[in-house]
Amino acid sequence: NLTGKTALVTGSTSGIGLGIALKLAEAGANLVLNGFGDNEAAVAQVSQHGGNVIHHPADVSRAEEIEALFEVIGQTFGAVDILVNNAGIQHVAPVEAFPVERWDQIIAINLTSAFHTTRLALPGMRARNWGRIVNIASAHGLVASANKSAYVAAKHGLVGLTKSVALETATTGITCNALCPGWVLTPLVQQQIDSRAQASGNAEQARHDLLAEKQPSLEFVEPAQLGELTLFLCSEAASQVRGAAWSMDGGWTAQ
Ligand code: NAD
Repeated sequence: NLTGKTALVTGSTSGIGLGIALKLAEAGANLVLNGFGDNEAAVAQVSQHGGNVIHHPADVSRAEEIEALFEVIGQTFGAVDILVNNAGIQHVAPVEAFPVERWDQIIAINLTSAFHTTRLALPGMRARNWGRIVNIASAHGLVASANKSAYVAAKHGLVGLTKSVALETATTGITCNALCPGWVLTPLVQQQIDSRAQASGNAEQARHDLLAEKQPSLEFVEPAQLGELTLFLCSEAASQVRGAAWSMDGGWTAQ
């Protein structure tokens, strides 16, 4: 039961972040949502579960906007007990053609934002000697694919940050772990299916090929399943899970 706890989920107006926010709210937590797009719909959906819910529009590629987000959380809820670093973007191109500004943006959003949120959340967690930091990495935090250099570098970096923070908090009630999902059917992946379908003219085939290349189960992971795994990491049963990079990938990294 997470009643009385406050959770911040970055990038939670859509996809995996929204799925995790819903599970945390169901368990009783107050929620700070973040991200672009239809934030009113996300707030309405998460609010159905009863806790207090706010949305903050911080662009997490900017340190000063993350600092402003934490100011608001401090005033509204006091502090962050559960931090889920989920905001992320993708760009697919060979390294020699990779747009420089996209590289910088991916490193900023998918990796550096987690450094900023972690450094800002930890003092409050230490004061209460309880906290959960869950970094949404990827199968690409453990293995690579061609044409995703920035994403793979950022996600491997996020797994590394997870381990360092886990060691720095090892004797406290704060844990820090990474989740490494395989394919989840969200807007981020739909874009990749669409660009394959454009090339081949067959959307169903594109969806099948995307799974068949990497994910032995041939099924997508569901955002709600990642939400359940996050709830487990928030439980006392998981208090000695520290610095893990936990796969939920339909067998992707077993190969
Ligand atoms: P998504 O595109 O559905 O959601 C991304 C969220 O991040 C949105 O809420 C968006 O508004 C927000 N966002 C983007 N840029 C932002 C910024 N600068 N500041 C604040 N918010 C920002 O994507 P998703 O698939 O749900 O991805 C969520 C996370 O899961 C990402 O870190 C992604 O790398 C990771 N992941 C996804 C998959 C997958 O198959 N979908 C697999 C492994 C890991």
